[in-house]
Amino acid sequence: MSNRDRAFLDVPRREPGYRDRAERLKDWRTIELPFEPEALREQAARCMDCGIPFCHGYGCPLENLIPEFNALACRGRWSEAWDILSSTDPLAEFTAALCPALCEGSCVAGLGGEPVAIRQIERMVVEQAFRLGLVKPCPPAVRRKEAVAIVGSGPAGLAAAWRLNRKGYRVTVFDMAPKPGGILRYGIPDFKLEKNVVDRRIRIMMDEGIEFENGVEVGRDVSARYVRDRFDATVLTGGAREPRDLTAPGRDLNGVHFAMPYLAQQNRRADSALDPDEAAMVARDRSVAVIGGGDTGSDCVGTALRQGARRVYQFEIMPKPPSQRLPENPWPEWPIVLREAAGCREICERRWSVMTRRLEGRDGRVSRLHACEVEWKPDASGRPVPREIAGSDFTVDVDMVLLAMGFTGPGRNRYAEELGLERDQRGFISRDESRMTSESGVFIAGDMALGASLVVKALADGARVAQCVDAYLRGKNAAAAG
Ligand SMILES: Cc1cc2nc3c(=O)[nH]c(=O)nc-3n(C[C@H](O)[C@H](O)[C@H](O)COP(=O)(O)OP(=O)(O)OC[C@H]3O[C@@H](n4cnc5c(N)ncnc54)[C@H](O)[C@@H]3O)c2cc1C
Repeated sequence: MSNRDRAFLDVPRREPGYRDRAERLKDWRTIELPFEPEALREQAARCMDCGIPFCHGYGCPLENLIPEFNALACRGRWSEAWDILSSTDPLAEFTAALCPALCEGSCVAGLGGEPVAIRQIERMVVEQAFRLGLVKPCPPAVRRKEAVAIVGSGPAGLAAAWRLNRKGYRVTVFDMAPKPGGILRYGIPDFKLEKNVVDRRIRIMMDEGIEFENGVEVGRDVSARYVRDRFDATVLTGGAREPRDLTAPGRDLNGVHFAMPYLAQQNRRADSALDPDEAAMVARDRSVAVIGGGDTGSDCVGTALRQGARRVYQFEIMPKPPSQRLPENPWPEWPIVLREAAGCREICERRWSVMTRRLEGRDGRVSRLHACEVEWKPDASGRPVPREIAGSDFTVDVDMVLLAMGFTGPGRNRYAEELGLERDQRGFISRDESRMTSESGVFIAGDMALGASLVVKALADGARVAQCVDAYLRGKNAAAAG
């Protein structure tokens, strides 16, 4: 199916842009604007419909049929475009809002120019599908007798639940958090993903027959053995939230917080669900240092600015990425270039190659951050390590520090501990090629298996674990019958 002839040659890439910064910092609503219809048509026409679409096979973990939905979006054939998109990405509203668009990194049009604005086109397909009432509950025609428990309702758990339910299994999703969604709800701020988008999907899934049991930590509120024995299979999708800590002196001062509790508290505040006894972590009138330059750090920056921070700094220990691909990072690899974090364009004083040396306090509260610049040089084994640049020390006065230095893995999990699931050398719960743990019938997917990753990878892994569970249960039935 070809698009407008050779539009990629004469139409430059355009994105719909963002709401005005001064205006958007006054509220928590999503900052991205949608495409105007004509701009969308033009941009979708830039898709080259190439013989080997690297976006599909190489870039997208979900293997989305990108040239096909681009061509249909270009013609305004929304129903067919949604059918194509949702055949591989049924929860596409999450990737449309949050994905860094790995597909665009391997788009053939990006080889000699700018890639197609695939994520924004996907976003329009999703919006039109909901607007036209195309996304509706579709319970399975036949219910099977087997029941599957999903432990964790982030994107991996939701993707697994959606697919297993469509195959007819009776699915129950447990989560210790008050509402489903995992990091989509408790972590990612509203200005990247409004929570009514999560609610809308959960309602559809409930209407399709999926049960959600929230406020239940499996391994504490109900025993892991009980869940294992009551269900024919269990899928663990508990995430990877063990935060990397700062080892610098002064870490224990008041006003120094891990990013996740800070972001999740703001999500609960926005949902009027704050525990009245909870100590507030609010950046209003504070001078804030965010340590860490990734998605989580950028979400802290956007949140602190909206809470009314006086000043926000963001320090990243890694060097500033180049603005263009380097020769050693050729197409179709994901380009390691300077970019804004997915969905968060808020500006602060951002510096790279900066290492925090210590935090100073006054009356028990953090008051100053001492840092220096570093250069990355290989150690004896050839591994690059940061080395302090003499005379580069500096200080900033801060009264709040947010630690967003990444996640080291799944950490402790009561479910895994109760069943004594085997772990690998990295401390991750082991799984075999069928995604099964050391316990028969207990599977694992998403960040809990992969390490902290991306929504699109969690969705893809959730989809694949559903296939593995289906194969396992069918195999068991066949063995019992034979
Ligand atoms: C602040 C932040 C911003 C991010 N921004 C982006 C972005 O813009 N784009 C992007 O692609 N990715 C982003 N990511 C990464 C993305 O959110 C994760 O990769 C994704 O959510 C992982 O999904 P998951 O289902 O594996 O786990 P999670 O989303 O972490 O969900 C795990 C769930 O399991 C529950 N759970 C754990 N153990 C138990 C138990 N024993 N009993 C009951 N429930 C349990 C937890 O309560 C949680 O709800 C971001 C991550 C963070 C932290």
